[in-house]
Amino acid sequence: MNNLAQCTNVGSDIDIWQKVQTKLRNEFGEGTYKSWLSKLNFGSHDANKLTLYVPTKFMREWIVTHYSDSIKNYWKNHNPNLQELEINIASTQNGFISKVASKESKVEIYESRSPSDLDNFYQNYNLTSVLDPRFTFDNFVVGAPNEFAYAAARSVAEKTKTASKMNPLFLYGGVGLGKTHLMHAIAWHIHNNQKNRKVVYISAEKFMYQFVRALKNKEIISFKEYFRSVDVLMIDDVQFICGKDSTQEEFFHTFNALIDNNCQIVISCDRSPSDLNDMEERIKSRLGWGLVADVHSTTYELRLGILLSKIEQMKATVPKEVIEFLASRITSNVRELEGALNKVIALSKLVGREINLENTQEILRDLLRSSERVITIEEIQKKVAEHYNIKMADMASSKKSRSIARPRQIAMYLSKNLTSKSLMEIGRKFGGKDHTTVMHALKTIETLKTSDNEIAEDIRILSKILQS
Ligand code: ADP
Ligand code: MG
Repeated sequence: MNNLAQCTNVGSDIDIWQKVQTKLRNEFGEGTYKSWLSKLNFGSHDANKLTLYVPTKFMREWIVTHYSDSIKNYWKNHNPNLQELEINIASTQNGFISKVASKESKVEIYESRSPSDLDNFYQNYNLTSVLDPRFTFDNFVVGAPNEFAYAAARSVAEKTKTASKMNPLFLYGGVGLGKTHLMHAIAWHIHNNQKNRKVVYISAEKFMYQFVRALKNKEIISFKEYFRSVDVLMIDDVQFICGKDSTQEEFFHTFNALIDNNCQIVISCDRSPSDLNDMEERIKSRLGWGLVADVHSTTYELRLGILLSKIEQMKATVPKEVIEFLASRITSNVRELEGALNKVIALSKLVGREINLENTQEILRDLLRSSERVITIEEIQKKVAEHYNIKMADMASSKKSRSIARPRQIAMYLSKNLTSKSLMEIGRKFGGKDHTTVMHALKTIETLKTSDNEIAEDIRILSKILQS
């Protein structure tokens, strides 16, 4: 680029430029410097105009938007006459393809074109506006099922440099178990404590959308540059990248480029890397190279802890028996648990009634019904067979001896009471028996329940085991 320098005093201008670069590096940090500012080349300096060069259009726009004021101010420290900063694109093939100038605080883009969606995405990307302010480490309740994932997330967030064995951090687990919460918590932590690191958090869907747009708008180079310029890249719900070949390819290249640059990558997924069936083998294996942390389903204790913490945050009062009821009944995931709690609190406020077990059950009737575990006839047969120490095959047999017929009748009775199956369906599962046989079994057991304490107790225990 030296042949571009037109000033007589090139030597000292280059010295100044080096000093300016050092200042920029101090101000914006190593990551930003490496990604953006180090790509700026000194061009020329005459009386009141400084000209710099960058390799691409996208870079030029990014630098103009974000750093031109600092560049000018630092230059002015050495040469107060500076009035204009011009950043040009130097392309190896076409020479200078376009120009942009920044005069004092005003930026003029000579080449007029409407900003594309892609540019808007890059330029307007604002980490804090995409993060949920509630999803912090402080608000995350730690228990046995998530303590490993939590510890992994914390240590990635607290590291100032990327440790290769934790790269990528791959968090996986079922829906509503706190993966996004942990991702946002990492992003908040780095954002608040390591201002210089550029963090980009994006859902896999959005990543794909941007990629497809970039392809369409012929801006794929900008796309690559952008994603390869970050210090910490977080992609949520990566399972959505499965199956789209070109996105997978780009994702993989971006991924490799970032890992090679020692940038931290954090990924969340609803399954483990090896279970990503639509993902190419090499990507799968690469995803599992770093730290893979599983967020397990919640336990009763964790659900209790989460409820107590949310109740405290909401400054609400909820009786202990209601909290225990929610923790034992809403077991699917934390999102549903939160939803149930919010509903109970909101409704009690709305109608000005105190929360109790009865109105909780009333308010949550539909939810409780849908979250009830579905018990199958096979499960019932298995448990009953185990209990009476008979063979599973006896459930379908026609053996009439009481030691076998009685348990079979009990299993039919439980099937009627614990499932929504019809008498006919039940008969079918018990070796193709007629519905009248099932009806007879139900009547027999009903009667025995009132006269035979042992049978009544067996039924109680079996129902409890099956419903837990
Ligand atoms: P995922 O991304 O795994 O589907 P989210 O992170 O969106 O789940 O979590 C769903 C909801 O449950 C969020 O509101 C989140 O704050 C909450 N949540 C999940 N796990 C916890 C936890 N351990 N402590 C506190 N809140 C949690
Ligand atoms: Mg999520």
